[in-house]
Formats: sequence, structure tokens, C-alpha cells
Amino acid sequence: MHQEIFAENNPLPTAVVHATLYANHDTGMGHPESPLRYTVVVNALKKTDLYRRLLWLDPREAEESEIARCHTETYIETAKHDIQSGQGHLSTGDTAVSRWSWKPALHAVGGTFTAIDALMEGQAKNAFCIVRPPGHHATPNRGMGFCVFNNIALAARYAQHRYGIGKVLIVDWDVHHGNGTQDAFYEDDSVFFFSTHQWPWYPGTGARDETGRGRGRGTTMNRPFPAGVGRNEIVGVFGDEMRSAAERFKPELVLISAGFDSRHGDPLGHFQLTDDDFGDLTRIMLETADQFADGRVVSILEGGYNLEGLSMACKAHCRVLAEHGGLPPAFDSPPSAQTLIPPSGFDEFEW
Ligand SMILES: [Zn+2]
Repeated sequence: MHQEIFAENNPLPTAVVHATLYANHDTGMGHPESPLRYTVVVNALKKTDLYRRLLWLDPREAEESEIARCHTETYIETAKHDIQSGQGHLSTGDTAVSRWSWKPALHAVGGTFTAIDALMEGQAKNAFCIVRPPGHHATPNRGMGFCVFNNIALAARYAQHRYGIGKVLIVDWDVHHGNGTQDAFYEDDSVFFFSTHQWPWYPGTGARDETGRGRGRGTTMNRPFPAGVGRNEIVGVFGDEMRSAAERFKPELVLISAGFDSRHGDPLGHFQLTDDDFGDLTRIMLETADQFADGRVVSILEGGYNLEGLSMACKAHCRVLAEHGGLPPAFDSPPSAQTLIPPSGFDEFEW
């Protein structure tokens, strides 16, 4: 009873999953998917008025058996060996790793589980996971495109397995096609995958006629766009075709592959989305989740390589997540706030 009154008077917070170990995934000098990506996003959020109104959560580590829900045992062993042997990159593709990348990779997956637990247990209304390495290019048997394990695909499987969630909608607004996520669910009608991406561009997949196979026919929707497009095309297609597809599919959980390399000024993409546009995309997904999924949205960081642009876009994204349905009161002392202190020497990288 007390809890009901509390919930009625005070909106739940947005959970933010973070851990300084995400900066331990060292990709080498000059690599665009750098540890600073994690640091600038956390530092940017710390400087906003949202800081004490967010529920900062430490990720848990995923078990290898949980990772096997989307990846082959052979690939998991290969990735572990490649990382721990110190060879500097995955043998399966273009993903730079260091000897210290195994724990971050397990916690990038586990962080999405922590976010889903927070929603399902009523601690948070939605969540943003500031994880590294990213995940959407990792296929069931191959890490590539800076990704080791497919964090978002594993999040969908975790929600289905742990909480009996039936249908999951995954949307991907990263400038690159989420080929790994598409592969994971290409023949599965319980997960709808919707992606906007630059085309032709890395990784080369994601044509309009890739729509699923077998039972999964019709639950993959790709909307490729040429370089240079922005709000009209991307926010436009989320507002009409994605919405219509979601109305037919009726998801019980909404997951976002939140890549911010579709923002203007990114070195690895040529879309022109602004921070306000990311706010509008976020709003569309929250409204979709309100309609069918009891508001459940978990957003998972993918790309975004202009450090200033990444931090600005993440702030805009988190503000819309946090303000949706009303801001909660400020926490006196944010949980695990001490772990937000960035490694020394990183303070200059703030916006
Ligand atoms: Zn990308």
C-alpha cells in the first residue's frame, strides 16, 4: 500500500547502468571506439541537473551460459582466447581488444540484464546503458565492427527467458546496419528488428528486401538511406513506418540500439541528426512503449565517435527518458556515486 502511494506521487527514475571498467576495454592509440567515449558520456551527465535524479546502477557480469543464448560455444571460446592471449584483435573480424577486454565484454552484456531487472522489479521506469564494447555488429558466430558480444540481442533473450516477455521490439538508429542483431532474429517472429542506416556503407547489409526468413518473415524491417539525410527521413520513418509496424507487432518490451554516429559531425557516418532529433526519436519510442509495453524501454549505447557530439546527444536522449512521465525527486546521495569519479587525467575531456 505504501509503495503504491509512493509510486503514485513520485515518478520512477531512469536507471543509468555504468562502470569504470567499461573504460578498461583498451582498443589502442587513435582508435575511434576509445575508452574516452564512456568517460565523456558519464562526465556530461554528471554536470546536468539530472545527475541526482538518475538511478546509477553497477552492471552485473553475464555468465557464459547466458551469452550462449545468442552466440555459439565455439565463438565464445574463440573470443575469450583471442582476448586473453593478447593478440590485440578478434580473429573473426575488425574488433580491437586488449588482455583486459574480457570483463568489460561480460559486463556490457550483464549491464543490459541489470537494466531489465531494474524495470521488471519496479526500481526504474526506463534505462540507458553506457556500455563498451558495443554489440550490434556481433553475429552468432563472429565478432566484428568493434563489437564482441551482441549486447542488445542478449538483452532480448534475457527478458524472454527470465521474465517470460513474449515479443520484443528492437530499433537501431546507429548510422551502421545492425547486422548481428538482424542475424540473431532473422528466423524468429518473437523479435521485431527495425533499422535505419546509411547505405551503401559498413557493413554492407540492411537492404529493404532483407525482411526475415521462415517464421521470421516480416519481422525484420530495414530502411537504408543515402549519405546526407537527417531529420525528415530518419525521424520521419520512425514516426510513420516504425510506429505502424509496432502497432501491428504489439511489443511487450522496447530495446534501442542507441548509436549516435548518425549525428551530424560524426567521423564514421554522414547523417545529419541533431540532439533535438535524438530527443524526438526517444519520445517516439517512449510513446510506443507506453502504448503496448507498459512503458518499458531499455536503451543501449552502440556507436558515436565524435566525443563532443556523443556526449551532447546522450544528454538529450537521457533528458527525454528521465522527464517522460515526470522527473522523480533528487536522491540525497546517488547510489554508487563514488564510482563516477573518472580516472585521473580525463577531466579535460568534458563537455
Ligand atoms: Zn555505428
